[in-house]
Amino acid sequence: MAFDSLSEKLQNVFKNLRSKGRLTEADVKAALKEVKMALLEADVNFKVVKQFVKSVQERAIGADVMNGLNPGQMVIKIVNEEMIKMMGSETTELKLRPGQATTIIMMVGLQGAGKTTTTAKLAGKFKLKGKKPLLVACDVYRPAAIQQLQVNGEKQGVEVFTMGDGHKPVNIAKAAVEHAAKNGNNVVILDTAGRLHVDEDMMDELIEIKENVDVAQTVLVVDAMTGQDAVNVASTFDEKIGIDGVILTKLDGDTRGGAALSIRAVTGKPILYAGMGEKLSDLEQFYPERMASRILG
Ligand code: GDP
Repeated sequence: MAFDSLSEKLQNVFKNLRSKGRLTEADVKAALKEVKMALLEADVNFKVVKQFVKSVQERAIGADVMNGLNPGQMVIKIVNEEMIKMMGSETTELKLRPGQATTIIMMVGLQGAGKTTTTAKLAGKFKLKGKKPLLVACDVYRPAAIQQLQVNGEKQGVEVFTMGDGHKPVNIAKAAVEHAAKNGNNVVILDTAGRLHVDEDMMDELIEIKENVDVAQTVLVVDAMTGQDAVNVASTFDEKIGIDGVILTKLDGDTRGGAALSIRAVTGKPILYAGMGEKLSDLEQFYPERMASRILG
């Protein structure tokens, strides 16, 4: 289960804190040292951890806290609040244009991150909201990706637009937008091609699509299990093409939690959804508060 090892370690630290009647400054510092170790072991970004510990310490080592009835609880409460802050505090919705205006969403990410699966998952969410989504197969390098999108689109009862693998992605995107206008599709989701690593060709292709199609939201899909690599990928995509938000996949298998805890703080971009499994229904809105409760138990 997600965050298991981090949860376990933090709960041990908290158990020690709770068992003390009174807390000295040294107690708090010792506990925070352990919290810091646990976060670093969970692969949370070093700078984020440093800032987090500093904030908790400043708040926790105050007279009010030390004289409180239950100081251990107070420290835990502060850790909880700062952890929520680290993940962006508020839940961020993927913004759709109002009314019947068409929203074009471009899905980007490295190969294997879960982009094609997530694209179909998202379409299902929009369909439930009464929208009429169109999935667009722009990954022309992997014929299997086109087929995968078609199969998943069918499962979701959502139309898939494809022109095979003989056209440039930008032209497929343009044709899809025209098709959507004729057919009343008010959400167009472009499934673009990933690569094994960040490369210039991929970025150029994405920039070309953005320049020619009115993309409202660029959504990056990253694999939570890759930890800090996922955070670096998010920073790079944001620098090169600009992203509006992140979907974190495979959180169901991520025992560490480093990506979930660092992405927002490092990139400033919100996590919109979390992938919690391979099934097309396994996509959850990302709630920083719930995530913190999951971690802190
Ligand atoms: P793409 O190359 O980025 O388009 O990746 P795919 O959509 O083909 O997904 C790669 C693999 O990850 C597939 O086996 C998916 O079933 C799996 N996958 C995607 N999202 C999740 C998730 O949230 N949890 C789990 N456990 N597996 C996922």
